[in-house]
Amino acid sequence: MIASYRFSLILVFIAFSQLGKGQTIIQKELKENFTITNSVYFIEDPGKSLTAEQIIASSDFKKVPSEIPNFGTSTSTFWLKIDLKNLTEQENYLLEVAQPGLDEVHLYYFDKNHQLKHSTTGEYLPFDHREIADPNYIFNILLPKNQVSSVYISVSSRDFLQIPLLLGTRDTFFDSIKTKDTMFGLYAGFMLVMLLYNSFLYFNIKDRNYLFYIIYLSAVIITQTSILGYAFQYIWPNFPLLAQYSWAIHGPLVGITSLLFTREFLRTHHYYPKLDKGLNFFIVGYLLAVVLAFLQFFKISFTIINSFAGILSLYMLVLAFLIGRKKYKPAKFFLIAWSAFLIGVTLFTLGTAGILPFNNLTLYMMPMGSAVEVVLLSFALADNINTLKKEKEASQAEVFLALQENGKLIREQNVILEQKVSERTTELANTNGELSVTLHNLKATQAQLVDAEKMASLGQLTAGIAHEINNPINFVSANIKPLQMDIEDIIEVINKYEKITGVEELEVKLKEIEAYKKQIDLDYTKAEIKTLLAGIEDGARRTAEIVTGLKTFSRLDESDVKTANINDGIESTLTMIRSAIPENIKVVKHLGTLPIIECFPGKLNQVFMNTFNNAIQAIAEKKTGGTLIISSYVQDDQHICISVEDNGIGMTPETKTKIFEPFFTTKDVGQGTGLGMSIVFKIIESHQGNIAIDTEFGRGTKIILTLPMKLTVS
Ligand code: ADP
Ligand code: MG
Repeated sequence: MIASYRFSLILVFIAFSQLGKGQTIIQKELKENFTITNSVYFIEDPGKSLTAEQIIASSDFKKVPSEIPNFGTSTSTFWLKIDLKNLTEQENYLLEVAQPGLDEVHLYYFDKNHQLKHSTTGEYLPFDHREIADPNYIFNILLPKNQVSSVYISVSSRDFLQIPLLLGTRDTFFDSIKTKDTMFGLYAGFMLVMLLYNSFLYFNIKDRNYLFYIIYLSAVIITQTSILGYAFQYIWPNFPLLAQYSWAIHGPLVGITSLLFTREFLRTHHYYPKLDKGLNFFIVGYLLAVVLAFLQFFKISFTIINSFAGILSLYMLVLAFLIGRKKYKPAKFFLIAWSAFLIGVTLFTLGTAGILPFNNLTLYMMPMGSAVEVVLLSFALADNINTLKKEKEASQAEVFLALQENGKLIREQNVILEQKVSERTTELANTNGELSVTLHNLKATQAQLVDAEKMASLGQLTAGIAHEINNPINFVSANIKPLQMDIEDIIEVINKYEKITGVEELEVKLKEIEAYKKQIDLDYTKAEIKTLLAGIEDGARRTAEIVTGLKTFSRLDESDVKTANINDGIESTLTMIRSAIPENIKVVKHLGTLPIIECFPGKLNQVFMNTFNNAIQAIAEKKTGGTLIISSYVQDDQHICISVEDNGIGMTPETKTKIFEPFFTTKDVGQGTGLGMSIVFKIIESHQGNIAIDTEFGRGTKIILTLPMKLTVS
């Protein structure tokens, strides 16, 4: 991209003249270095085999066609011959080969004694081998006065073979080197400040554009320093190989970094995705050039790097132009900055090609161009940042407006929501009120129904008692009349015996009594009295039994825990309901020996009553009769069980899941309250017991109640 060259102060000065003969004549004392042009001759040695002696003897020298010798890139060694005629008193001179990139430079000349002198330098040697410490190659030569001296120089390099030759004295070189170093110092200082400044901006703003810019800037600084030879002098003086290959790295380095910066800065991917992809072609090309250079294919590598410099510059200019037309403002800045640099490069190239005068102005064009470019790009970046900032502010304002709008909406929504909430709350409060009324009513109804259920069992009880007591009492009262009559007969017999007062008429009286006995059939009467008494006894006993049962059963409302034998409860319950059991239902009892357990006996009696009644009703519904089996047994040392089994109609699975629900009934209105099993559940729960139901629709039901022997007080 940047043709390898150095800049130095050169002035075409009247102090010398170049004549057609091919001689350069020094006529007056030199005040400045001067560039030797038009009187340089050369021989190309492609095989690098010719010796200095052979060259000096040769007559094959041809005139260099251009003002400044320029052989492009070549693997040949080039020999230059300069004839210098010194007409001044000064005999010690310095000759400069002003191209710091050359690999190997040799200088030959004859001293006063016609002795051939040889000195060598170039990037193939470490830097401290140089006679004079300067990026360019400066040799001491002796030019005896009033004499034509021939100086021979051989150069070979992988780098660009452009060979400006300058002649001067110690004084003029002192001036020129001083000026050159100062210029470089200014340039480097300026560039470093720009680098620092932009790095500082990057770390503050964190904008990717700046990052790519400082990378590009670093690449430019390294490259310029290296091209001017200062990098070899000051940074890596002991790495000749690095110096020799630097040209193969710099072009690609600057090319790729400038490309990456351009890509980022112009947003090429956004505006022209296809052209943006095209940039990759250059990256690949550059990398290829580097690889080729290291594989020793210098010519191809150099051709790629050099042609890419021009093509890529043009490509980026076109991109900037196209993107600028899309009203992307930074592109215009970019276009100006890039043009400034390219104008610098063009002027410089024209200068070295001899089309423009080869003077300090043209020589400074490239660094000046790059400095101007750097400044302009810096402006462009700042402008870009400003644009971004404005865009951001605009979008922030939009966001702010949107937020305000949102806030308004939210406030409105809140009002609506609050209204809705209060409406709902009132509705809920009303519903709640209604519900609590309903609940209250339900509770009252439930209490009534529970009472009704209790009344029902009491009613049944009363009926049972009436029926049961009536029977034995009838027994007793029916026996009393005949017993009275029997007793009267016997009393009559006794009276007759008492009327006997003496022994007279005894015989007669006894006969009479005997006849009476026969009349009343005393033996039969005696037997009948026994029978009647037994009947009365039986009636009285059964009455007593019923009364006991009634006593047991009437514990219905006891609320204290008592100890009781469950079998007694089962028996008394059965006694109570016996009369209600139809003829065709057989009751079988398997009552095992049970321990006394802690329980609420009255409540358990109600459990038995409810389950027995359900079983009887279930059998009755079958119409064909059946059996109710009631068993009690000890399950383990903690629990007893009561099983109530019937072969009645059984339950459907649906019924089974619902039987404990209060008011659930499958029976007709008036037949069942649906509370029986829910009461059973409550009571068994309060006994810390368990209810298991085994049922099959159409076949029967078995309900097993498990009760603990001891209640744990909670
Ligand atoms: P009710 O007897 O007043 O209907 P319950 O709570 O005592 O109320 O019983 C609820 C329901 O459970 C009964 O309607 C009946 O369908 C069913 N049920 C209870 N025990 C039995 C049983 N042994 N056999 C068949 N069904 C039964
Ligand atoms: Mg019932």
